[in-house]
Amino acid sequence: MGVSLRDTRSEELYSRAVQYLPGGVNSPVRAMGSIGRDPIFIERGAGAEITDVDGNTYVDYVCSWGPLILGHANPAVVAAIDEVAADGTTFGAPTALEVDLAEEVSRRVPAIEMLRMTSSGTEAAMSAIRLARAATGRTTLLKFAGAYHGHLDGLLAQAGSGMATQSLPTSPGVPEAATAATVVVPWNDPDAVREAVAANELAAILVEPYPANMGLVPPREGFLELLRELADESGALLVFDEVISGFRVAPGGVQELAGVIPDLTVVGKILGGGLPAAAYGGSRELMELVAPAGDVYQAGTLSGNPLAAAAGLAPRRQHDEAAYARLASTTETLADGLREAAASADVPVEVVEVTGLVTVFFSDRPVTDYAGAQACDTERHGAWCRELLARGVYPPPSQFEAWFPSIVHDSGQLDLTIEAAGAAFAEVA
Ligand SMILES: *Cc1c(COP(=O)(O)O)cnc(C)c1O
Repeated sequence: MGVSLRDTRSEELYSRAVQYLPGGVNSPVRAMGSIGRDPIFIERGAGAEITDVDGNTYVDYVCSWGPLILGHANPAVVAAIDEVAADGTTFGAPTALEVDLAEEVSRRVPAIEMLRMTSSGTEAAMSAIRLARAATGRTTLLKFAGAYHGHLDGLLAQAGSGMATQSLPTSPGVPEAATAATVVVPWNDPDAVREAVAANELAAILVEPYPANMGLVPPREGFLELLRELADESGALLVFDEVISGFRVAPGGVQELAGVIPDLTVVGKILGGGLPAAAYGGSRELMELVAPAGDVYQAGTLSGNPLAAAAGLAPRRQHDEAAYARLASTTETLADGLREAAASADVPVEVVEVTGLVTVFFSDRPVTDYAGAQACDTERHGAWCRELLARGVYPPPSQFEAWFPSIVHDSGQLDLTIEAAGAAFAEVA
C-alpha cells in the first residue's frame, strides 16, 4: 500500500549539514522535525515544481514560505536579476530601482504613503516597533498568541499567568526584561483585547490581520474593526504585519480586503520576489520621524538592494487583476479538493482558506485561536505530510503554517495534489 520517498542523497547531505549548521538548517521549520522526518535538500525549481537532490519532483506549496507568488525561476524575475547583477549588486548609495519599488508599493497598499526598506521581515517589524514607540512616547506592545512577527526578543513572548500582565520569554536567551513590555492576548477574543487596552498604556497593537503562522486563522467578523477603534480611543498605533498577506490576499493586502486601515504596515516575502527584502511604512507624518528625515535611527547595509528591488518589481508588473482572480480560483479549487478528499477518507479536518493561503487543520472543530491550533492532531498531520511527500506533493511541514498556492499552479498540478491528498488521507484514516 504505502509508498516511500527515495532520499539517500538528502540523508547524505543532512549528515554533512549537521556538522556545520545547527540542526542541519538555517531556519528551524526546514528541518521537518515536526512531521517526523529529516530535511529534504532541494536542487532546483521551475514554476510550481521543485526537484530534490534525489531527483524527486514535487508540486510545491511552500514556495519559500510565501515570496514566490510567481513560482520558481520565473523568467521575468530571473532576467531582471541577471540584468541588474551585470551592472553591480550593491552600492551603499541610492538607485532608481528602490524608488520605483517604493512608488509601486505606496500605490498598492492603502496605508503606505512612505516606506523604509530592510532586508528581512524581522528587521522591519523591529523597526516599526521602534517608530511606534517614538511616535507615541510609550513602551508597551500588545500582540496575539500564535502570531509571528519575526524573532525579535521582545516578541518571543507568551502570556504569563494572569491576563493583561507582563509576559514570559518563549526562548532561552531572551531576558525577562525584553518581554516585560509585551502583553499577549488570545486571538479573536474581544474582551481580552479590551481589558488589555484598558490596563496598559500601549504604544502599539501588533497584528497579523490574517494570521498564518498558527495555521491560517482568519479574524472573526468585526475583530479588525474593533482593533482599529480601540487603537484610536487609547492613542496606540495599529500595526498590521502583512509580511505574508501583503500582495497576496489582495493587491493591497488585508487592509484593502477588509477595509481596515492601520497606522503602520510591515511587508516582506513577496516584496522581494524571492530575494531578501522587507519594509515598514505608513503616513508621511509618521515615516518622516525616521532618520535622516527625523531622528528615529534605523539603517541597513543592503537595504533597498538593487537585485531585490528588481526582483520585487517583476511580480508587481505581472500580478495584475487577472492574476489575482486566477489565484483566488486556484485557492478555492485546492481547498475544496482537500476538503472533499478528507471527507471521502473520513478524516476529520477543518480546511481554512483566503486567496493565496490554505490550512488543513487536523481538528474536528473550527479553529479560532492558537489554543485551537495547538489542540490539533499533529501526529496524524505529520504522517499525512510524509505520505504527501512520497506522492509528489510538498506541503508546509508543520501544522502551524499555511499552504502557499501561487499564480502558476495549473489544473494538472491541482488534480495531482488532490489525488495524492486523498490517498494520503486514506493511509492515515
Ligand atoms: C515571515 C514573517 C516575518 C519575518 O520575516 P523574516 O523575513 O523571516 O524575518 C514576520 N511576520 C510575519 C507575519 C511573517 O510571516
